[in-house]
Amino acid sequence: SDYEARYRERTAESERAYERLKEDVPAGVASTYRAWDPYPFVVDRAEGVHLHDVDGNAYVDFDMNNGAGMVGHAHPAVTEAAADQLSDGTLYTHPHELLGEAAAELKKRWSMVDKVRFTNSGTESTMHAIRVARAYSGRDKLLKIEGAYHGVHDYALISKSTPAGQVGHPKRPNKVVESDGVPDEIAETVEVAPFNDLDAVEEILEEHVNEIGALIVEPVVLAKGVTQPYDGFLQGLRELCDEYGVVYIFDEVKTGVKIAPGGAAEYYDVDPDLVTMAKGIGGNFPVGAFGGREEVMSVIEDHTAHYGTYNGNPLVARVVKTVLQDVLTEDAYHHVNDLGERLVAGYEDIMADAGITGHVENVNSQGIVSFTDRRIENYRDFLDHVDVEFHENFWFGMLNQGVVPHPHDASQQWTISVQHEKRHIDEHLEAFKEIAPRLAE
Ligand code: PLP
Repeated sequence: SDYEARYRERTAESERAYERLKEDVPAGVASTYRAWDPYPFVVDRAEGVHLHDVDGNAYVDFDMNNGAGMVGHAHPAVTEAAADQLSDGTLYTHPHELLGEAAAELKKRWSMVDKVRFTNSGTESTMHAIRVARAYSGRDKLLKIEGAYHGVHDYALISKSTPAGQVGHPKRPNKVVESDGVPDEIAETVEVAPFNDLDAVEEILEEHVNEIGALIVEPVVLAKGVTQPYDGFLQGLRELCDEYGVVYIFDEVKTGVKIAPGGAAEYYDVDPDLVTMAKGIGGNFPVGAFGGREEVMSVIEDHTAHYGTYNGNPLVARVVKTVLQDVLTEDAYHHVNDLGERLVAGYEDIMADAGITGHVENVNSQGIVSFTDRRIENYRDFLDHVDVEFHENFWFGMLNQGVVPHPHDASQQWTISVQHEKRHIDEHLEAFKEIAPRLAE
């Protein structure tokens, strides 16, 4: 498209830098998701709410590190805390008090969490939480939701973005292993249910009674837009888990500390047994955590493995404590949530004026514009009703205007950080207003 042609013109140096990267690094990136066509712009530095590429373009950033950057880039308080910690050592592999202080901050936000263990990523957090849940329940099977993402360990790579031709019955989605190198046997230990369908979940639990020991959900499926649970869905899952003796895991890697101080558990007022966290808690440092009820977490003290050289190191513990204590304050949430509303209203107005069919969905700092005529309720809706081609033009159009509206692809949402201001929201909307008439043609 000419949007893409214009993008190429603006990013010639990025293309050269990317070609060089590909000589040393598979696909030129450190995480395969970051490689998109024709080539991703190459970043020189990030500060505040801006990304700067090697061509000298500045972008107002609403991708915010795939949702990890709730504090924005290089937040002064976070930078200062980390710098201060550097000279006291960044790794001890012995106990230290910052560990308890950081854990205590998480416990304040999730009332059902009695104990916390730190990890280094969301992937590690869900992997360990699933293991703990299996150990506690004494059952091997995991139930997950079609289209939800929980990281890249083997058990998480089932039916996260199944191609349209392979999905199976909507109430009994196929179990699809979505990476070479993951043994097919892994799929035998996982069952897959649709989001927002309690009856389907119950049927699967009934069929595998005494086999399924863990249910993991993204309480808002942020892997596919901003797919919210209908009223009572998460509570209904709580009741089913109690009835069937299943450990209920909220994967709050993306929702945690972002849609509310205490994540989805607070926002939807539902208590899971275990919570996984990463991204937002770490102020752009690599950290994850999982926590939960004493009784469940206690299997770690018994015979359930959770180790890691870098777990809970003093550098990230110090950062987590700073982010949660000093940066993500009550005022910060008011600020971010107000900006979220402004962005939503702006998108709706511009689409109405330009005659663009779209739907905006948001939960406080997380939002998305999807080019569709309806609210997306599950993975099948996303597959069948989101106009990804239209979205592609939107994406390049916005980049050309100096705005990164969200991570690349139509499934991804914006993150509003504490460093965004009204003027950045208005720049975002101005960019959309500029491209809307052409997009609508
Ligand atoms: N769980 C959810 C809900 C996620 O969104 C992600 C990452 O996007 C992960 C787990 C994996 O986290 P990480 O990329 O830190 O391994």
